[in-house]
Amino acid sequence: MTPLPLAGAGPGAPDRAPPTRLAQHRRSSNPSQRHVRNTNNSMPRSGSYLGPSLGCRDPDHIARWVAAMNAGKAKLHCTAIAKTTGAPCRKVPLKFANKCSIHCRGAERIKIDQLRLVWLQRKLRRRFFNIRERGALEAQISKIQRRALRWWWKIDPTLSGSTIALKSHDLARACAWLRDVARVEPDALTPRAFDQCLWAAALVLSRRYDDETGLLKVKRALQAEELWRSKTGQTP
Ligand SMILES: [Zn+2]
Repeated sequence: MTPLPLAGAGPGAPDRAPPTRLAQHRRSSNPSQRHVRNTNNSMPRSGSYLGPSLGCRDPDHIARWVAAMNAGKAKLHCTAIAKTTGAPCRKVPLKFANKCSIHCRGAERIKIDQLRLVWLQRKLRRRFFNIRERGALEAQISKIQRRALRWWWKIDPTLSGSTIALKSHDLARACAWLRDVARVEPDALTPRAFDQCLWAAALVLSRRYDDETGLLKVKRALQAEELWRSKTGQTP
């Protein structure tokens, strides 16, 4: 092994330079190393999925990448025909589907959603995300889960679950509104009807519904409940 040219300057080597000079040398070399390391650490990690050549903030890189992605997407179209115009839909299909989010519905959507759910959950586990990206992914996941629950509730409204998350204080206020204003006993409802009534109460309490609209939503939830009971012979 050939000795490195600087091997003589190591800690075990005779110290020819005065200590002050050595200290100065260290001070002058370390900040630059630290600087390089800091620069690497401050690289936007959100762009790391673009790969080493594109994973940077260079606007030209990003613009090219976005243009290529859009060009790829532009080739894909939803296979549905728009009902209003009779023309083929121009929207981008959902992942795993050949239809867009508007035209992929019902049982077909639930099936595609399950594939998307696994894909999104895997994405969330494997990649680094900043808070905004993570939030967007989590929102997509909970949207899929809410849609699936509403779908299964059509078949069985007694399945436990909820599509609204209220803090205990707000939950108590919503239940009080249901009892006092809507004259509904929350404990007697199926999870589906309770969820629908809770949404109505929450929207009234946050002043996005007036009392009249809230009561109408409760009434519809109770009608659906009644219909299900009469069909299945369930007693309240
Ligand atoms: Zn479409």
